[in-house]
Amino acid sequence: MKFVTSAVAALSLATCTTSAFLPSLTQRNAPQTTELFASRKPFISGNWKLNPQTREEAITLATEISEGITSASPESDVALFVPYVFIESTMNACDGKYFVGAEGVCPEMKGAFTGAVSASMLNSIGVQWALAGHSERRVIFGESDEYINGQVLKLLDMGMSCMLCIGESLAEYEQNLVGSVCAVQLKKDLAGVSKEQMSRVAIAYEPVWAIGTGKVATPETAQNVHKTCRAVLAEMFDDDVADSTRILYGGSVTPDSIDELMAQEDIDGVLVGGASLDSTKFNRIINFQA
Ligand code: PEP
Repeated sequence: MKFVTSAVAALSLATCTTSAFLPSLTQRNAPQTTELFASRKPFISGNWKLNPQTREEAITLATEISEGITSASPESDVALFVPYVFIESTMNACDGKYFVGAEGVCPEMKGAFTGAVSASMLNSIGVQWALAGHSERRVIFGESDEYINGQVLKLLDMGMSCMLCIGESLAEYEQNLVGSVCAVQLKKDLAGVSKEQMSRVAIAYEPVWAIGTGKVATPETAQNVHKTCRAVLAEMFDDDVADSTRILYGGSVTPDSIDELMAQEDIDGVLVGGASLDSTKFNRIINFQA
């Protein structure tokens, strides 16, 4: 079975002891990720990108999202990846109910890298998760697989967790290159990562043609790619890593598509851009029914 939904959340809400309801200032005290990943706990995440425009708006949105996580919600991990400047305000507003992560990290730890933010800086304010390899970083900011690999290794070396985004372009999709593009990205971006460290990695499969376009991949297409990615992980590491790594789908996920996506055997969660900026939509996604 892929995952279980349960009423454990009710207890969690009262005691703040499970990962879905972490005290905001002690996010690093979460249960060991190995433990969480063993059952491929569902993982619902949002990526705010260059939004919202003010700290006040960020706090309002973060608060509304936290209010949508109740004792009736599925027992999932929830994370919001937010702009650096909003991380601490969002942590304060999240009521300990979700992880607040960074949208990226510099692979260097210190020195003359103007504008960069290191894993150590993030770690020191209690950030546990960061994105790496988002297609907007690859395409707009020219981040290479080598650079992304550096980010992944640095986060893991700091004891942090990483959500690695991979996915093909429209041209690659049309040329039937989905499997090979994902395999190459997984191999290059996870080079040097140990089996043990993989317990702190989640993969987000995000076809570039589906991001922000309103074109969501069909659940069957996404399921097939996720299965292929799992086979690549088995080849790179072993069956245990392949079976325990959470693979999320991202690309125009909405309240209309979430339930069917989450019902797929190899889809363990979602990374949501646009809909994570609307608390009503994102809360419906968090409260998926599968
Ligand atoms: C994303 O930014 O990772 C994403 C999936 O965006 P959207 O949901 O808007 O397609």
